[in-house]
Amino acid sequence: MAKAYLDRLGVSYRSIDVGEDTEAAKEMIQLSGQRGVPVIKVDDEIIIGFDAQRLNEIFGKERKADVSDVLIIGAGPAGLTAAVYCARKFLSCIIISENIGGQALESWTIENYMGYRMVTGEDLMRKFEDQVRVHNIHLELDSVTDITLEDGLFTAKTVSDMTYIAKTVILAQGMRPKKLGVDGEERFLGKGLSVCSTCDGPLFRDKVVAVVGGGNSALQTAVEMSAIAKEVHLVVRSSIKADEAYVRNYEKKKNIVIHSASTISALHGENLLSAITIKDQKTAQETVIAVDAVFAEIGWIPNTDMVSDMVALNERGEVVIDVNCHTNVPGIFAAGDVSSVRSKQIIIAAGEGAKAALEVYDYLMRL
Ligand SMILES: Cc1cc2nc3c(=O)[nH]c(=O)nc-3n(C[C@H](O)[C@H](O)[C@H](O)COP(=O)(O)OP(=O)(O)OC[C@H]3O[C@@H](n4cnc5c(N)ncnc54)[C@H](O)[C@@H]3O)c2cc1C
Repeated sequence: MAKAYLDRLGVSYRSIDVGEDTEAAKEMIQLSGQRGVPVIKVDDEIIIGFDAQRLNEIFGKERKADVSDVLIIGAGPAGLTAAVYCARKFLSCIIISENIGGQALESWTIENYMGYRMVTGEDLMRKFEDQVRVHNIHLELDSVTDITLEDGLFTAKTVSDMTYIAKTVILAQGMRPKKLGVDGEERFLGKGLSVCSTCDGPLFRDKVVAVVGGGNSALQTAVEMSAIAKEVHLVVRSSIKADEAYVRNYEKKKNIVIHSASTISALHGENLLSAITIKDQKTAQETVIAVDAVFAEIGWIPNTDMVSDMVALNERGEVVIDVNCHTNVPGIFAAGDVSSVRSKQIIIAAGEGAKAALEVYDYLMRL
């Protein structure tokens, strides 16, 4: 998003991949005092993360786009599929998304997407993106913060101060990782505490790390980090509840230490995270373990904050839809993991995205 933001404004920059360049990684940690990416250096100022507010102060001004037929929020399997179906109906379409691919990017092996016996999430999502790029679809890397309805038109605002207007909206913004609920969580985020092993994992080569969670995501992260880090502590609240394929992979790894029936009760460190306290749920005994990073993989919650006062949500915070992807607000549709459809899978999200787009077409024809 940071790079897309600078591209949009025509600001020239040099991009350094600290996952590949270890010297640059050291320099980045020294400059910013933390390990999270991105770090942006503007003149002598160091900006940690995609701090849109600060970047807007330096470079920005509010800009408005034309009115589109449909605005799609999210470029995961649901949003990308919806976009292709909209394009094939000759609807003018814009997708705004924080990344291209969504959660599927986190999956290193997908064995249940029809047409592929096995494919990585990254490869599958690149094929989705290629299919979108064939069409005249406007795709912006940005984050929607607010949607309003006025005179039959929806207006979306983004963190980069952009305003987009559309006749209809497809909500396809999926889910985000849950928080640990431990004191100091905000302070250590990006300073050793990570919710994105794909982004931050390579920075902890030969270090000791902890992974929290007992599901597919946690096991996958533990396995990935076992190839990078010296030692991986897997902290599981009850017991492992993951698919057989993930368990088989995890069991082969010698440098993963499991702490079952345990939770993290404290995070320690001056500036950077340096240790955690693990609490045994049965005996209440607490143990301090020195770690350089904690990867939280304890589940997901729907990204519905920006529409919570606009569309009906269920008790899990998901957008309530009918069988045809309609929300309770005419003109707003939802698809994929953000919706109340129970099964959260790529093939289902893609199918729902297609359904939502066809419903948008039908809705616009009747306007
Ligand atoms: C580790 C892991 C492994 C998995 N393995 C499999 C598997 O093997 N098979 C399978 O079928 N499923 C798997 N899944 C589940 C699958 O990835 C999801 O069901 C699917 O990605 C849901 O697609 P979606 O488009 O609804 O949402 P998401 O994939 O969550 O995409 C949502 C998109 O919205 C964007 N977004 C969020 N908030 C905003 C905002 N405010 N503004 C703009 N954009 C926003 C996000 O950046 C993202 O691009 C796995 C998931 C994980 C995490």
